[in-house]
Amino acid sequence: MLQRKILLVDDQPINRAILRKMLSNGEYQFLEAADGREAIEILHQQHGNVSGILLDLLMPGMNGQEFLDVKAKDPVLANIPVIVTTQLEDSSTEVEVLAKGANDFLHKPYNALITQQRLANLIKLHETVDFVNAIERDGMTGVYTKEAFYRLAAGIIAANPGHKYDILVTDFERFKLVNELFSMAEGNKLLRYWGQSLDKATRDGKIQLAGRSGGDVFMLLVDKQQGSLYDLLADLEKTLQAYPLKLTIELKAGCYHVDNETSLDTMCDRASMAAGSIKGKYGKHLCVYEDSLRQHLLQEQNILNNMQEALANHEFVVYYQPKFSMATRTTVGAEALVRWERPGQGLVPPDAFIPLFERNGFITDMDMYVWDRVCADIAVWYQKYGKAMVPISTNVSRVDIYNPHLDQILLDLVHKHQIPIELLHLEITESASMTGDNQLIQAIRTLDKAGFTIEMDDFGKGYSSLNMLSELPIDIIKIDRDFLRSSNDDVRQRDVIHFVIGLAKKMGVGTIAEGVETEEQLEFLHSAQCDMGQGYFYARPMPHEQFARMLAQKAGQ
Ligand code: C2E
Ligand code: CA
Ligand code: CA
Repeated sequence: MLQRKILLVDDQPINRAILRKMLSNGEYQFLEAADGREAIEILHQQHGNVSGILLDLLMPGMNGQEFLDVKAKDPVLANIPVIVTTQLEDSSTEVEVLAKGANDFLHKPYNALITQQRLANLIKLHETVDFVNAIERDGMTGVYTKEAFYRLAAGIIAANPGHKYDILVTDFERFKLVNELFSMAEGNKLLRYWGQSLDKATRDGKIQLAGRSGGDVFMLLVDKQQGSLYDLLADLEKTLQAYPLKLTIELKAGCYHVDNETSLDTMCDRASMAAGSIKGKYGKHLCVYEDSLRQHLLQEQNILNNMQEALANHEFVVYYQPKFSMATRTTVGAEALVRWERPGQGLVPPDAFIPLFERNGFITDMDMYVWDRVCADIAVWYQKYGKAMVPISTNVSRVDIYNPHLDQILLDLVHKHQIPIELLHLEITESASMTGDNQLIQAIRTLDKAGFTIEMDDFGKGYSSLNMLSELPIDIIKIDRDFLRSSNDDVRQRDVIHFVIGLAKKMGVGTIAEGVETEEQLEFLHSAQCDMGQGYFYARPMPHEQFARMLAQKAGQ
């Protein structure tokens, strides 16, 4: 038979013995404490798994009232029912302890039947409350539901004005993959493991409260006195990694320093924002919320809210930056660079939105739109300027590379606008994992077969491997502008540029230098036998009408 645990708190062993005797009907197992502190310790050892407490008020050390205060602030212990045992009938004390959370009274000397009955009633009540509380627990993981977390956390914070707290919101990087690669059941198992781990951390006092807001998102309330956040996270991360799974999942945590002005759900939202901001950033596990982050994220959100409409309204416009020949200093090509003409905000540079679009996939739509505009311009200019027309390079994002139909999409555009394929060049960014990136290698080969001219963008910026030049059908390398920036004063950099250009020449690959800003740089590049340049020295990116005028001039019109 299940024996319920009853904790007897009284400094007099004789009083505890009397209660034990009176209540010994086989239903209970007794634990004993001589003062409040000892009682709290025992309750923690039992993980709050105690059905009732009989509490004496007058004790040396932590007395009954102080015990009630401590218990009320502890979410694990707060709901355990308490019967206060008093010597005297003292109604003002009774009111006071009731206010502190005591549930009932017993007066000494005890009456056995009354004592038994009151305790039984109380336990029944408590277990009903427990049942209700169970609804506050998340069925799958056992931690609190979102609403319960908000309520309880607010309670703990309000009850401890001297303490400083942090709210942590955590989720797992790549959790979706667990469901996709293994099964939903496997994903649920991991969530249960995580819930249990957080529950244990709560019992161990490392965190004060844990809740789940849905999916793999958990919320924690942490008392700053418990130690450093970094230690806590390292601890949690270790627990997570201990879970046996053939996939590395990473913990991402956002933190909000609790203040008095902000509501709990807002604080959780902000912690969640902070966590979201380090998604995809390998090795970064914690981000603390700051107002600047909010500003930044609001701006990002604003961009995301408006991008579809902007595309439909033709707010994205293409600028052209001429590429020139080192030998003749005339225009031999151009790069198409997108700008966002935002109503009321002017021209927004691509760095402000492209990384965002690459993360959410919208880059695919935007690039398609840009390519279409570029092909349309090529068609018109080719008609008008004939032989004076130069090839236009357009940027292909790394995200586009993973589209298996990329070659067909681009070929369709070429056919739709009826332009010679030689006039459309593709700038593809050298990727960090280039050598091992089969998909990129495959894509480049396919595009080459389809007849496109490939320019390797930002060459030298990533982990460029010169080997790749011999492996891949690259037509032109674009030497990254950072190279040139540092080459002014660095002899070794100049040597590297010399070497790269020399090697490219040997392999029949063309060269263009980005970011040429001065006559001096131009002369150096020319002497190094670089074929082409692009940069502010020759021309800045310009609207298409202006570039059309350059072409017209070139055509002698
Ligand atoms: P990128 O492909 O490396 O483009 C060259 C960038 O260098 C352009 O910046 C250009 O304005 C800038 N630049 C040109 N000459 C000079 C110079 O002399 N000095 C300096 N300091 N900078 C110079 P922009 O237009 O802001 O574009 C930034 C990046 O955005 C591009 O880098 C490219 O990665 C991306 N991007 C631009 N348009 C598109 C597009 O249509 N699709 C995709 N996927 N990405 C694009
Ligand atoms: Ca480019
Ligand atoms: Ca570039």
